[in-house]
Amino acid sequence: LGMLLEMAADGLADRVALGPRVGGLSFAELAHQARRVGAALQTLPGDRVGLIDLNSPAVPLTLFGSAIAGKPFVPINYRLADEQLRAIVTRTAPATVVVGAGVAERLGDIDGIHLVTRDELLAIAADTEAKEADGWGGDPEDIAVLLFTSGTTGEPKAAVLRHRNLTEYVISTVEFAGSAEDEVAIVSVPPYHIAGVSASCSSTYSGRRVVQLESFEPRAWVDLVRAESVTHAMVVPTMLGRILDVIEADGQGLPSLRSISYGGGPMPLPVIERAVTALPHVGFVNAYGLTETSSTIAVLGPDDHQAAIGSDDPEVRARLGSVGKPLPSLEVTIRDPGGQEVPTGEHGEIWVRGGQVSGEYLGIGRIENDGWFPTRDEGHLDSGGYLYVHGRLDDVIVRGGENMSPGEIEAVLITHPAVEEAAVVGIPHRDWGEQVVAAVVTSGEVTEDELRGHVRAQLRSSRTPEHIQFRSELPFNENGKLLRRVLRTELEQAFSS
Ligand code: ATP
Repeated sequence: LGMLLEMAADGLADRVALGPRVGGLSFAELAHQARRVGAALQTLPGDRVGLIDLNSPAVPLTLFGSAIAGKPFVPINYRLADEQLRAIVTRTAPATVVVGAGVAERLGDIDGIHLVTRDELLAIAADTEAKEADGWGGDPEDIAVLLFTSGTTGEPKAAVLRHRNLTEYVISTVEFAGSAEDEVAIVSVPPYHIAGVSASCSSTYSGRRVVQLESFEPRAWVDLVRAESVTHAMVVPTMLGRILDVIEADGQGLPSLRSISYGGGPMPLPVIERAVTALPHVGFVNAYGLTETSSTIAVLGPDDHQAAIGSDDPEVRARLGSVGKPLPSLEVTIRDPGGQEVPTGEHGEIWVRGGQVSGEYLGIGRIENDGWFPTRDEGHLDSGGYLYVHGRLDDVIVRGGENMSPGEIEAVLITHPAVEEAAVVGIPHRDWGEQVVAAVVTSGEVTEDELRGHVRAQLRSSRTPEHIQFRSELPFNENGKLLRRVLRTELEQAFSS
């Protein structure tokens, strides 16, 4: 990763890399500051460098500083409950951990953990008298980043991403210095998520200026996009709906924006249709990926969005529900539970192979399948090579021997005009093994019977939820991911039979 910064510093020296157009850090200055941080981190205790903070310049400085120091970077979720946070930090020891406001008090003393505040780190970075590290870091096979997955399907595991994985992703998806000088990216996704890590790496290599929002809030996001003439953004599905609410209410649009990429979870069709209509000048990109694959592995680009919205052909229209085509640098196949490839169009598990794919976890090792990584996502490829993600295999509902993915039923529920959000899970049933139950957030008058009829009209009756719970909100984590385990437990308590 240090090499990405070195190239940017050499090739783009005075161009602004981070912060406001006037007064922001240039690429050359970013590199100097990262090398000062790198030198400091080499002398500070520990084998790893943690970070528990909101977005700030300390994030890319710690990411690149760690790379230069030859120590893995471990961004950790500051929103975890104190006990979980301490448990994860303990697993990171021995380490130096960069902390934002209030975090030191929450952590207390932990053996093998040395804390540095964000302000102390920024002071080291800005001190022109401070020593700069020699060189740009170690070996491509060294660990660059350890990322704890959010644990929506189990206990958090730390995915191991090596320098080679992340740089192969960056080099195969963005052109060096390929961004025009007026291109500005807003980073508002959390630093402990793969999207935050890959945004820092890709922007630096492509030469795009980055402006940061400490954490996502829709009004502040819209204001920053307008104030900084932001051209490129990355959002998770729940963010997009909230951004649209703000701009529809104030009627001012987002004229500077050229592209919004979205991903991290399934995008409800009504939201993306609304977005394409509200922001016709914006190119939308659906990006599908996982932490273990250094982020994006398939994309549905702007042309496919436009073609789908404008088409009467059901197959072309349906592509809006796909995640597009796999990146050319990767191989993607669909396989049955025995690991055999299935024919085009058939459902199975999505497997991926390529340089950006790690498939390795801390303390567990690498899943060895001749380089192939089973994603645990269910999906299919259509005859045009478009990939469809149906959801997590672990979420598949088996009702009376029939397998069904919650995503298919959720997609139908959400098309009812009164339904704002929908989630479907399987809960135990004494005769069928599992029964289908749904939770919905509605904005208008609608009865349970009406919604059941709406699903029955479009899907087989076995897929119609036995029970539907009306709620004011669904349990999402801070990345906008549905906490299915939490919901399943709640619905099980309400409806078990
Ligand atoms: P855990 O693995 O602990 O449950 P997580 O789900 O948050 O945590 P991530 O690596 O952040 O882990 O999420 C990757 C998953 O998100 C994918 O496997 C897929 O299910 C889903 N996903 C990501 N992008 C998309 C997309 N564009 N469309 C549909 N689903 C997506």
